[in-house]
Amino acid sequence: MKTLRLILGDQLNHKHSWFDSPHKDSVYFIAEMRQETDYTTHHIQKVVAFFEAMENFATWLKERGHEVIYYPLDHKDNQQDLVKNLEYLIEKYSFDQFEYQLPDEYRLDVQLKEFCKNIEIGAEVFDTEHFFTTRTDLEDFYEGKKEMVMEYFYRDMRKKHDIMMVNNKDPEGGKWNFDKSNRNKWKGEHEIPHERGFRKDVSATVKRIKDAGVTTIGQVKETNFSWPTSREDGLSVLHYFCKKLLVHFGDYQDAMHTQHVYVFHSRLSFAMNSKMLHPKEVIDSVIGHWRAHKNDIHISQVEGFVRQIVGWREYMRGIYWKEMPGYRLYNKLDNQNKLPEFYWTAHTKMNCLHHAIKQSLEHAYAHHIQRLMITGNFALLTQCHPDEVDHWYLGIYIDAIEWVEITNTRGMSQFADGGIVATKPYVSSGSYINKMSNYCKGCHYKVSKKTEEDACPFNSLYWNFLDDKKAHFKNNQRMNMMMSLLEKMPAEKRSALKERAAKIIENPDSF
Ligand code: FAD
Ligand code: SF4
Repeated sequence: MKTLRLILGDQLNHKHSWFDSPHKDSVYFIAEMRQETDYTTHHIQKVVAFFEAMENFATWLKERGHEVIYYPLDHKDNQQDLVKNLEYLIEKYSFDQFEYQLPDEYRLDVQLKEFCKNIEIGAEVFDTEHFFTTRTDLEDFYEGKKEMVMEYFYRDMRKKHDIMMVNNKDPEGGKWNFDKSNRNKWKGEHEIPHERGFRKDVSATVKRIKDAGVTTIGQVKETNFSWPTSREDGLSVLHYFCKKLLVHFGDYQDAMHTQHVYVFHSRLSFAMNSKMLHPKEVIDSVIGHWRAHKNDIHISQVEGFVRQIVGWREYMRGIYWKEMPGYRLYNKLDNQNKLPEFYWTAHTKMNCLHHAIKQSLEHAYAHHIQRLMITGNFALLTQCHPDEVDHWYLGIYIDAIEWVEITNTRGMSQFADGGIVATKPYVSSGSYINKMSNYCKGCHYKVSKKTEEDACPFNSLYWNFLDDKKAHFKNNQRMNMMMSLLEKMPAEKRSALKERAAKIIENPDSF
């Protein structure tokens, strides 16, 4: 049976059973398409990274004797639309079977299901063989339980997959969670190794994207591209992380610094989200390295990393499939404002936002706390519509794919789901930012001031947010302490804070 097998841009799984041996009647199809470059405005590095990785994957398949049709963006037969391309190929080459892997994005899932309903040849769908969990495992796990707390899911995953366990119920190190030791500010105590870059020349890919007129954001160094775009690159970033960065990963996981973009973070999200690396091989390598160097690396560094991948990453995927398509419409706090212009330029006097956005535009990267407590925090405090916030996050980061972007942004960061992902909104005044970074030192604003002309904007915005949204939090126990402080605040002080916050919300781009 002559079979057309589709591989999407984020399905570059070299270990998939499809590729165990060349299948003489199967032809693999991989395509760069305007459908994918245009569904949001992506960072130029993100488009480049996907196209380069897809091309490398196609080359790898061909070298192993598989037959591949690769459509670059400018291929004469490229219809720029997934369904049109598939229809065209089926007709042109008379395929009598169509096969694909389960997409991770809802929009593609719907599109391919519809397509299969309408074709006259046979169709079959396969698992991607990438995640620890299926789409519905999380829903099954929480069935009948009152609350969906990530911690219990994470513990279950550790037990089920025998990850850092001493027996089938007790975790290694005697604790499930070493989070408390992961809260250090970076004060220059250790040298931070330079990131594992690749100095790749991607000018031909950039030219192809520009010639096609694709609208992108951010910058790219065409002869010094630093993201992994092949399995070998991904493995090299993984080994570099184990050797050089793991030793302090947990300690400085939340730290932010003007001179260090990546601190001790792994930079593995793109390699994993495109499936060039499997999450199991990532944590196996990290745990294996730790076992061989137990005298030098504390368990807290390793557990903190394993938790992100086995816990948060799988949890977010489960929430996505449980809650979509309704999830993308949630706006439970009823926020309506536009995202400030400076999210696309980094032109703001607020040093924390300036740095977090500038590095996002330059590197398509910000780490978790920058995304959550700087850009996400400000967007929520200024009450921006979650659609606006999602649009920005889905475009700007190298690793942004809807299943993991929207759950982190609309859920964890913007609390627009009313508490499905997070138990309380992640908002803070300037003092948290000052505690975890050196941003405030060089800032135009004073973190210690509240309402004066040069007061840190986060301070008034924080209290104003609690006051504006208090009806939403009256039954949230985790908000009780802050709400009672707000209640006790003298009316004069509260109205001065609100007046200052109103000015910021009205014109954030002047701050
Ligand atoms: P490290 O800090 O080294 O962590 C290791 C790995 O753990 C990551 O590569 C990632 O695969 C996983 N991980 C860590 N935190 C999370 C999390 N909260 N959810 C899922 N996986 C996690 N991650 C994405 O992959 N794509 C996104 O589009 C995305 N959008 C985000 C938006 C917001 C508002 C926030 C707060 C977080 C978002 N994250 C997203 C999670 C996290 O910020 C990134 O995974 C991480 O910064 C990637 O850098 P790293 O590989 O150096 O991660
Ligand atoms: Fe950000 Fe406020 Fe600190 Fe300035 S003072 S860096 S605005 S937290």
